[in-house]
Amino acid sequence: MARGPRREIKQLVVEVTEACNHACMHCYNYWRPRRGDVPVLPVVDATVERGRRVLTRPDFVRLVKKIKRDARLHYIALSGGEPFLRTDLPEIVGDLSDQCEGLVTITNGTLITEERLRRMPERSNFEITLFSAHRETHDAIAGRKSFDRLMETGGIDVVQPDPSRAGGLTGCLRIAERAETLGLALAPHAWSSPVVRAAAMHLCIATPHALMLEFSQHPSPLERLFDTGLELRDGLVAPTDRPGLGVEVDMAAAREFAV
Ligand code: SF4
Repeated sequence: MARGPRREIKQLVVEVTEACNHACMHCYNYWRPRRGDVPVLPVVDATVERGRRVLTRPDFVRLVKKIKRDARLHYIALSGGEPFLRTDLPEIVGDLSDQCEGLVTITNGTLITEERLRRMPERSNFEITLFSAHRETHDAIAGRKSFDRLMETGGIDVVQPDPSRAGGLTGCLRIAERAETLGLALAPHAWSSPVVRAAAMHLCIATPHALMLEFSQHPSPLERLFDTGLELRDGLVAPTDRPGLGVEVDMAAAREFAV
C-alpha cells in the first residue's frame, strides 16, 4: 500500500524526571504537591521517583525508536524537572544522541560539577536557565538561592535571556551588557509566542554580540493571532520598519479564541 509523505518532528522534548531542586514561580510542573515548597532533592534513583516507577534508559530508547518508525526526527531536548537529578543522565544522553541529529539538555545548572561533566558524552550541549543578571531577581523567580552557584559553575558560552521573563527588554539589555563583559554571546530565548520573538528581534538588533534569533517552527495557534512581519527565509530574518514591537493582532482570530 502506498504511504503518504513521512511526518517530520523538528524537536522532541523528553522530560526525564518530574523532580526539581528549583521552585520557579512560572513553572508548569503542576504535578508538584506543594508548589514553591519543594525540598532540595538529592540525586534521585534512576528508576524510582517518589515511590513510583519512572521511565528507564531502555524505555526512552524504545519510545524514540517507535516515534522514528512514523516520523523523521531531527533534534531531542532533554528536560524535566531537573535532568541532572538523574544518576543515569550521561547514559541517556549517549543513547538518545545516537537516535537524532542533535541533542540538548535543558538544566537549571545548579547541579553541574566537574565530575558530572566528565561523565557526560563528548560535545554535550546544555541550555542553562538564567532569569536575570541580578541575583535577587533570579533567585526570586527560581524560588531558590541559586544565582551564585550558577555563576561559579561557569562553562556558559551563550546567554539566552527571555524578554517575557527576564525583566523585559530593559532587563535583557542589562544581561546582554553583562554577557558582553564576560565575553559571552547572546541568543535570546524566544519560544513562547510571536510577541516574544518580535521582542527578541529588537534585542538582537540592539546587541552587537548577538549570535542568533531563536525562531520556533512549532505549530502554534498564536502564530495566527499575531502578525510580526518577521519571515524566516533560508535561515535569515530581516527586521521590519513597523513602530514599537511591530506586532499586529488579527482581531478575527482573537474573536475565534475568545472565551
Ligand atoms: S528549573 Fe525548570 S522544572 Fe525546575 S522549577 Fe524551574 S522551570 Fe520548573
